[in-house]
Amino acid sequence: MTKTICLITGASRGIGAATAKRLATKDVVVIVNYLSNKKAADNVVATIEEAGGEAIAVKADVSIEREVINLFNFIDQLDGTLTKVVNNAGILFKQSTIEAMSAERINKVLTSNVTSYFLCCREAVKRMSTVNGGNGGAIVNVSSAASRLGAPNEYIDYAASKGAVDSLTVGLSLEVADKGIRVNGVRPGLIYTDIHAQGGEPDRVDRLAPNLPMKRGGHVDEVANAICWLLSEEASYCTGSHLDLAGGK
Ligand code: NAP
Repeated sequence: MTKTICLITGASRGIGAATAKRLATKDVVVIVNYLSNKKAADNVVATIEEAGGEAIAVKADVSIEREVINLFNFIDQLDGTLTKVVNNAGILFKQSTIEAMSAERINKVLTSNVTSYFLCCREAVKRMSTVNGGNGGAIVNVSSAASRLGAPNEYIDYAASKGAVDSLTVGLSLEVADKGIRVNGVRPGLIYTDIHAQGGEPDRVDRLAPNLPMKRGGHVDEVANAICWLLSEEASYCTGSHLDLAGGK
């Protein structure tokens, strides 16, 4: 039986790693993409293999077009069919108001969080579109509640990048709806991962969780479960949707 290939960008840590582990079954090859943390990516692969699944760690900076093309060319050489893609890799910088945001920072956020998603969607659609002879498939774009809330005084550049991701999800879902490809988004809220330390406040989730209707932060598996559902046949009539995983806010 031909195996299904699933690509998850930024799968060495956090939400991407949890999704990779959740997606792995004996009929699936999971591509664990990462930027620089080889050890973390190898650990995700080892966990999947120990559970009887198949996974391959692949280093690629998905904000760089040539590296994305190389990543997909590598996937083309594998035994299996690419049918699932999760655009998850994302960054943010230290909390700041707009007054201290350099063009360099803003551009880095946009290329890492937006250009990367466009490039991976482009390469995925080329391969999955039934018009091109592909088998169809599903794409999930990991956005953020910040696209709705704006992240004032923290990182409105990041929030705006996620707003762009939401528009990409809507537009692309309509563009490829009759080409066998579903495109959906998830918007996590405050989830316990390393990303908050990147923003300069490792304990940010615990500080803000009491303000949420559910009074707690979220866990990576709670996001991974939603991503895997959107990728699955159980969501076969769902496209262009955003699933909010933000404890009610
Ligand atoms: P994380 O723990 O900081 O992990 C980030 C992952 O992205 C790592 O695997 C990292 O690889 C990879 N990465 C970063 N830039 C990359 C690039 N240019 N090319 C390839 N891989 C790259 O982040 P997370 O919290 O799990 O976030 C995952 C996604 O969820 C992001 O899109 C984020 O915006 C979104 N999100 C998170 C939260 C939250 O509260 N955690 C809330 C809303 C949305 P290395 O390990 O090699 O560095």
